[in-house]
Amino acid sequence: MSLEYTPLSDIPKIVSNLRSAYHAGVTRSLEYRKQQLRGLYNLISENDAAIRDAVFKDLHKPPAELMIGESGMVKQECIDAIKNLDKWAANRAVKTGIVNKFDNVHIRKDPLGLVLIIGAWNYPLNLLLAPAVGAIAAGNTVVLKPSEVAPNTAALLTKLLHLYLDQRAYRIINGAVEETSLLLEHKFDHIFYTGSGQVGKIIMGAAAKHLTPVTLELGGKSPAFVSRDVDIAITARRLAWGKFFNCGQTCIAPDYLIVERGIEDKLVEAFNASIQEFYGSDVSKSASYGRIVNKNHFLRLKSLLDQSKGKIVAGGELDEDDLFMSPTVVLGVDKDDKLMEGEIFGPILPIMLVDRLVEGVKHVNRGDQPLALYVFSKNKKAIDYILDHTRSGGVVVNDALVHFIVSNLPFGGTGPSGIGNYHGKRSFDVFSHERSALIKTMGMEKLNDLRYPPYTEKKTRW
Ligand code: NAD
Repeated sequence: MSLEYTPLSDIPKIVSNLRSAYHAGVTRSLEYRKQQLRGLYNLISENDAAIRDAVFKDLHKPPAELMIGESGMVKQECIDAIKNLDKWAANRAVKTGIVNKFDNVHIRKDPLGLVLIIGAWNYPLNLLLAPAVGAIAAGNTVVLKPSEVAPNTAALLTKLLHLYLDQRAYRIINGAVEETSLLLEHKFDHIFYTGSGQVGKIIMGAAAKHLTPVTLELGGKSPAFVSRDVDIAITARRLAWGKFFNCGQTCIAPDYLIVERGIEDKLVEAFNASIQEFYGSDVSKSASYGRIVNKNHFLRLKSLLDQSKGKIVAGGELDEDDLFMSPTVVLGVDKDDKLMEGEIFGPILPIMLVDRLVEGVKHVNRGDQPLALYVFSKNKKAIDYILDHTRSGGVVVNDALVHFIVSNLPFGGTGPSGIGNYHGKRSFDVFSHERSALIKTMGMEKLNDLRYPPYTEKKTRW
């Protein structure tokens, strides 16, 4: 399916229509919002085959990975929002002093207005629609900008969205830099962006011109610590799954390992066993393994591998025509290795050896705060030490990626790995304004005497 970019001349009209729809109150009622969320749920569940096909064309994504990492999760987010919306949107009374004892003092959850959601290509369904669940639930009108790097998914969503959701309130705008740049000239009430930090700075700069708040879901080099005492087979299995899921193109994939010296041979052996168990002896024929999204990324990854001084101890097979890179483990990289420079974002897992995990802590702290941090250990003291002496968006002990799908855990980065977080109720909160409200009684005027002039001496003594 080819992706048609939205004509530049259409963009201002689309934006202003959505703004008008917001002010006309189209998205205001909770019943309307629930109905739209049911529409979004149905869009996904009734078009499962077409979605599978589109995401497969973009990323060769296995259906199970689509279900776990994208469609199943977005559907669950819809269900949670529909179920809890009345509670989430309800006014919250606050305690007051004697002066307001007879007033109605509370916090309202108002929609922000018109919001923009910009998605990334690696989870093209989830990263666009999961934030949309929050934006719809909170009563906003929404511009959705899918990633043009996953064109089949973007085209399919464009074809389907208006069949399931109210076009007056929710519209997709397609395009690349030119279209997005024009879009960003408009005033939005919130911009929710997922992608690289480099573009994140452009988004934040454009938002600053209108003083628009942003959520930035960015990336980083997420480390995984492995201590000497672990169950090596289980550790390798969980790490191999986390790293090679979506062919390593996951923002929270374990980027590299920090392993206590002495277990590396057994660990490498266990990685090879896990890769064999998951994908068979010829990974290129496995239906459970994805592909690199495009040639640019493939060549970027190939060049990283070529320039690394480490030793390939698993995988390393490449097929440029098929955009195939096998699950690859590289042993003996040091902090200056090419693989340790930027986020890898592909199926290459470098292993850095340390004598003590504390060296790894120092290494992590010399870099930017990562989006995720993983620790594999049986030693509670070591785990606590690492958690207490590092910073990251999220942290998981003895597993990888799985915090992403717990909807009650706010998901997001810190520092250069992101600003803000979402999922579950947090998504609703991101797109809501906590509006302080004080509804004063016209009675009890006597209570106000103290604040009115003339300010006698007696009035200042309380
Ligand atoms: P991408 O190329 O799909 O870009 C993301 C979005 O930015 C797209 O919609 C694109 O059209 C838009 N864009 C690109 N250049 C632009 C420009 N100059 N001006 C305005 N808009 C522009 O995705 P990517 O950036 O390659 O994504 C990969 C990065 O995203 C990685 O660093 C990864 O870790 C991060 N990521 C983070 C999360 C998260 O949830 N925190 C999830 C996925 C990816």
